[in-house]
Amino acid sequence: MQLTKLEIKGFKSFGDKITIHFNEGVTAIVGPNGCGKSNVVDAIRWVLGEQSTRMLRSEKMENIIFNGTKNRKPANLAEVSLSFDNTKNILPTEFSQVTITRKLYRNGESEYRLNDVKCRLKDITDLFLDTGIGADSYSIIELKMIDEIINNKENSRRNLFEEASGISKYKVRKKQTLNKLKDTESDLARVEDLLFEIE
Ligand code: ATP
Repeated sequence: MQLTKLEIKGFKSFGDKITIHFNEGVTAIVGPNGCGKSNVVDAIRWVLGEQSTRMLRSEKMENIIFNGTKNRKPANLAEVSLSFDNTKNILPTEFSQVTITRKLYRNGESEYRLNDVKCRLKDITDLFLDTGIGADSYSIIELKMIDEIINNKENSRRNLFEEASGISKYKVRKKQTLNKLKDTESDLARVEDLLFEIE
């Protein structure tokens, strides 16, 4: 699976739309301090569903929307799209080209899209489970993360191996199933109470 394209508009320092094409091999982004290199990485994290403002180096989610400059007014919408070549079918979908999009409006409304069809955040996280790509997976490695892995903070080393070996999706599904079981048990208890009252 190959990351092919990143489109950013109205996100952090990118008031105008920018498109980055990822060709085969290594892509390096260079530029002076403060020009927005880390913002590109933040945009990738964000479109993959990152919910933590701390991880996005922002106080509030709204602050990721382009805030304007002396000569430009702030944007009302932040939009990021990330495209993948899925000809090897690594992502569990029939599409050979996959584009995910996340939008956030200043009024707080937000939207996720998969190949331009509205979807839930869960559809995006499920799609990337155990592929190594995801807001909290090992596809984006920062210096801080290397420290955490070396010091095994919050079991991070184990989590990394679980994601790489493909166990994470089963753990997520187990948690979802246990939650459903819990809900069903309380529904059952409620039905029994009602039956008792009727009798
Ligand atoms: P360094 O090399 O120092 O790490 P960098 O190239 O990684 O820098 P970033 O941290 O990506 O730079 O970008 C910082 C810039 O992004 C700052 O100038 C900041 O003002 C700008 N910025 C962040 N959020 C917004 C926003 N919402 N609107 C406009 N500009 C923003």
